[in-house]
Amino acid sequence: MQKGNIGVTTNDIFPIIKKFLYSDHDIFLRELVSNAVDATQKLKTLSSVGEFKGELGDLTVHVKADAKAGTLTISDRGIGMTQEEIDKYINRIAFSGAEEFLEKYKNDANAIIGHFGLGFYSSFMVSKKVEIITHSYKEGSKAVKWSCDGSPEYTFEKVEKEGRGTDIVLYIDDENKEFLEENKIKELLNKYCKFLAIPIAFGKVKEWKDGKEEETDKDNIINNTNPAWTKKPADLKEEDYKAFYKELYPFSEDPLFYIHLNVDYPFNLTGILYFPKIKNNFEIQKNKIQLYCNQVFVTDSVEGIVPEFLTLLHGVIDSPDIPLNVSRSYLQSDSNVKKISNHITKKVADRLQEIFNTQRTELENKWDDLKIFIEYGMLTDEKFSERAEKFVLLKNVDGKLFTLEEYKTLISENQKDKDGNVIYLYATDTEEQHQYIQTAKDKGYDVLLMDGQLDVHFINKLEQKSEGKARFSRVDADIIDKLIQKEESKAVTLSDDQQNALTSAFQSLLPSGNKMNFIVTFENLSETAQPLFITQNEFMRRMKEMSAAQGGMNFYGEMPDSYNLVVNAAHPLINKILKAEESACGEKVAPLSQEIASLEKKRADLRGDKKEADLAEAIKDEIKEIDKKVADAKATQKAAFEDFAKGNQEIKQLVDLALLSNNLLKGEALSSFIKRSLEML
Ligand code: ADP
Repeated sequence: MQKGNIGVTTNDIFPIIKKFLYSDHDIFLRELVSNAVDATQKLKTLSSVGEFKGELGDLTVHVKADAKAGTLTISDRGIGMTQEEIDKYINRIAFSGAEEFLEKYKNDANAIIGHFGLGFYSSFMVSKKVEIITHSYKEGSKAVKWSCDGSPEYTFEKVEKEGRGTDIVLYIDDENKEFLEENKIKELLNKYCKFLAIPIAFGKVKEWKDGKEEETDKDNIINNTNPAWTKKPADLKEEDYKAFYKELYPFSEDPLFYIHLNVDYPFNLTGILYFPKIKNNFEIQKNKIQLYCNQVFVTDSVEGIVPEFLTLLHGVIDSPDIPLNVSRSYLQSDSNVKKISNHITKKVADRLQEIFNTQRTELENKWDDLKIFIEYGMLTDEKFSERAEKFVLLKNVDGKLFTLEEYKTLISENQKDKDGNVIYLYATDTEEQHQYIQTAKDKGYDVLLMDGQLDVHFINKLEQKSEGKARFSRVDADIIDKLIQKEESKAVTLSDDQQNALTSAFQSLLPSGNKMNFIVTFENLSETAQPLFITQNEFMRRMKEMSAAQGGMNFYGEMPDSYNLVVNAAHPLINKILKAEESACGEKVAPLSQEIASLEKKRADLRGDKKEADLAEAIKDEIKEIDKKVADAKATQKAAFEDFAKGNQEIKQLVDLALLSNNLLKGEALSSFIKRSLEML
């Protein structure tokens, strides 16, 4: 037996490994199994170039747990090591500024292991003793056993070992007994080793026999050594891509489309990305992309490696050029990683363009599901946005799909207003906004359907891009002739007093409170247009929706919904109501109007052309007195109009119908509308 000290400059790395690497104990198995796979692949390479002339034989890597002995053993039939090689690769560890580094990255085992090339030493995170029993492939070499109990001291011994390769034997320590449990090991192998390129055996295949599960003598291989992404796209069919998706996410619905990545310049990268079918909450769909390095699983949190919007995609990326055993912050600033990220964006855009060019119908059929990715991408990634402009689609309320360019051509003449702006009309709910959609269609206009989660932001984006040339308006944002104003609107024929009378009457019947707020306005529309419309200002509504989408309360979020009640002054029913109002209230209101007029004249005379500050105190008081009288007179008038409204069935009915057609008539108001309607019949 021979003894020696592991060559490190710090006193004792083992306590450090144990102390600092608590967060990620799991990865020791990945490190050991991938070392075994590396050693095996090296042997295959040597064999293929003729440097190794022996039989390769069965190259399966075996993972075995022995609960009684308390050991976990990883065995390979790879190149093995000579005693000199152990000395060189295991005993001497370059170790400078270690403690400082460890302190900094104590929660990031990956970074530590990568920094020191400590893959093998991660075994001490879970073991009280580790043995390497190895026999090099080199002719004439002897088997040797290296053993170390967690102190810097190791021993070498001669051993007998059948055949070539390495056994790593871990004597699992008491705190880590779980790593001897079958299910735990299975879980780790499944997570980290599922697609390693050399078969990994753990346990035996089980079969059902006479109602119970029995072990056969066949090795249970836990990995697929030849996963789809390592194959050539030409060798794969649609079904293969789908089957691989199922392999990755057994319980998911079929994906919409896939993208096979295959890059060899300026870096190596392969992978398959899928557009999944996203149900409701897209947050939970994130972080499904798995990152591999030569088929070894590294992580499934890929923020910073792929662009934010692509974290919605699912699938696998494999690159030997992504520095794996480093910390996340390092990864995100790595220039290779940045290049990869840009490249993936480009590839995704190219693939979508290709699908658009060759399978447009298919793309259109899946548009509703796909749209969220593309809009999200366009909103968050300018480069992607530029590419996506050519294939992003707009859908109208009849289900027809257009590219941005096609749609612009469709509406640019017909929906241009008198100032040369092109107005994109849209609806967010074809049922609720049916009446407005129909009115727009009757004018020969086209209406888009913008009912997606991100559409309100997407609309903003499109407007910004057009630099003011395109404007989006929801169909109920105003009356149609104002949405797309072709000519000056007609002057309203009602006098101020008449408008005032109607405003008071209508206002008193509209819902009010802190949630809703109505403004009454007048338009001279055609006699055949409806007498009343309810519209909702585009800007205010959009601001509210955007702030709601961002969550939390803020300035716009707390504003009430504001609506306009547009009164068609040219409509016979409105004139009828006005006449009725004038005859009902005239006697009371007319003298008050006269009084107001004379008070206002008096005030004007008193005031002259003096400034407020130059007025004598007595005059100021007199004006105050007049103001009060005017206000009182107006209030009395208002009360008279409201009284009229209260007793007039027709005006109530009209207001309720307008509310009803906007889904704003609810609760008690709705019940009394129904009751009143029945009585009128
Ligand atoms: P890394 O794998 O990053 O080089 P490790 O500490 O995991 O660092 O391994 C150090 C070296 O030990 C490896 O590069 C390899 O030469 C050798 N080694 C480790 N495991 C084996 C094995 N199972 N068979 C042959 N050589 C091995």
